Amino acid sequence: MNYDSKIAEHIRDLPRSGIRDFFELVIGRTDVISLGVGEPDKPTPWPIREAAIRSIEKGQTSYTSNLGLESLRIEIAKYVEGFFHVNYDPKSEILVTVGVSEALDIGLRALINPGDEVIYHEPCYVSYNPSIQMAFGVPVPVNASPAHDFAVLAADIEKAITPKTKIIMLNFPTNPTGGIEPLEELEKIAALAIKHDLIVFTDEIYSELLYDDRKHTSIASLPGMKERTVLFHGFSKAFAMTGWRLGYACAPSPLREAMMKIHQYCMLCAPIMSQIAGLEALKLGASAFEEMRVSYEKRRNTIVRRLNAMGLPCFNPGGAFYVFPDIRSTGLSSKDFAIKLLQSKSVAVVPGPPFGAIGEGYVRCCYATAPELIDKAMDLMEEFIAEVKAGKHA
Ligand code: PMP
Repeated sequence: MNYDSKIAEHIRDLPRSGIRDFFELVIGRTDVISLGVGEPDKPTPWPIREAAIRSIEKGQTSYTSNLGLESLRIEIAKYVEGFFHVNYDPKSEILVTVGVSEALDIGLRALINPGDEVIYHEPCYVSYNPSIQMAFGVPVPVNASPAHDFAVLAADIEKAITPKTKIIMLNFPTNPTGGIEPLEELEKIAALAIKHDLIVFTDEIYSELLYDDRKHTSIASLPGMKERTVLFHGFSKAFAMTGWRLGYACAPSPLREAMMKIHQYCMLCAPIMSQIAGLEALKLGASAFEEMRVSYEKRRNTIVRRLNAMGLPCFNPGGAFYVFPDIRSTGLSSKDFAIKLLQSKSVAVVPGPPFGAIGEGYVRCCYATAPELIDKAMDLMEEFIAEVKAGKHA
């Protein structure tokens, strides 16, 4: 059978994730130090796991409301108000989803008509471009260049706006760079959204992981923005809950309702045990992640110092748990750098280009890895750079 003719054209033509392809090379190798996958190295804090275990013991194994447990939505509203300073009604403005991944997907599908343009900043999370395409939108990337510490300039966003623009998508701190948007630029982006009557998607998944005493501002909290913003957040990063697949979207009720229609048909609801775990996580609040945050900050200091010292210029990121060093001085492409480093030293980093064309010449290293392994990986990387300079990996 000619399967190519059976598969939907827009899916057939979609490239596979560059990260996945790279990790096929790592799977099954126990000798590799991975600075690759973007997830915490510690399991979910025990009280959160315990809450889920108890719920299963009690036989709480049913569906929940499509919207998510009301008790969880009430707790989300309290948390979001406390952390982001935006007030959402748990009944009409919050939807519990299967990770931020599902929330972003149904948000795009609920708003995009074929051909609508979505502006986002690159380098960015690998799913943004394909998710926009799968919703029949047109991805419009705008560079968040290293020259501006990986922040995006409102002026560059403005240049990309056309009559077809519907959404501006933001993610600060950013995966894969750890970049943060200065407040003045965020305010200018808000003014653009208001002037051109655009919707803003703000992916806040790393917003608890900020360093150097920074305080986070979500664009949703700026004057006039709540009514045109969808705030996406979840539990994967701060609460070390990647495997639970739990997230949420906060949005004006007509947008929440549109997203809910897709969610109820394709997902029904997020798993009840994950929702109960999420409820416990929010009750614990910052006490569940503050120790990890402090530990990530120390690891960031180490990795940034070591990378710069070995001649790979590396921006000191204000948040998330990634660094995005410039490897151009090695003369290798990002992909060759990552493959040769893996083959010769068993250290895994991710090549930059899957995060956007501007990522060529860079690699992403996730430092949510045990401190002693970061030290070891840096020693090995230093050896590798010396060997490259001596012509060994040409
Ligand atoms: N947004 C960004 C920026 C991410 O980095 C990730 C995961 N790496 C997600 C969303 C997806 O998160 P979740 O586990 O909640 O689906």
